[in-house]
Amino acid sequence: MIEQQLSKKLMCIVVRGGIEIWLEKDRIKKLSAELLSLKENRLIEIEGEGEMVNTADMVGIFTPQTMEDSIRRKNGQWKDRNGKWHNRGDRVCHNCSNVVPFGMKCGNCG
Ligand SMILES: [Zn+2]
Repeated sequence: MIEQQLSKKLMCIVVRGGIEIWLEKDRIKKLSAELLSLKENRLIEIEGEGEMVNTADMVGIFTPQTMEDSIRRKNGQWKDRNGKWHNRGDRVCHNCSNVVPFGMKCGNCG
């Protein structure tokens, strides 16, 4: 399906709710110009292929590092004071601040 859309030089308008509207690139170009000229326009053009994004749907712009941190946190991992990552369930020993793996006793304190 995607190959066919590539060969026809189609581009996709994605509408809220995930609905896809596929149109020929030339048609999209005209439409984009119209959209960008609208007073209430919130679309911006992404450099390159003429892709556009609705700024109202943007949360922010982030570095790869921030994105990786976000994925780790979603997976339950956490960062200690030295910036080292640990798995969900690992804990800091209250006596010696050693990080203790889930279900284990502190190696320093027994
Ligand atoms: Zn300890």
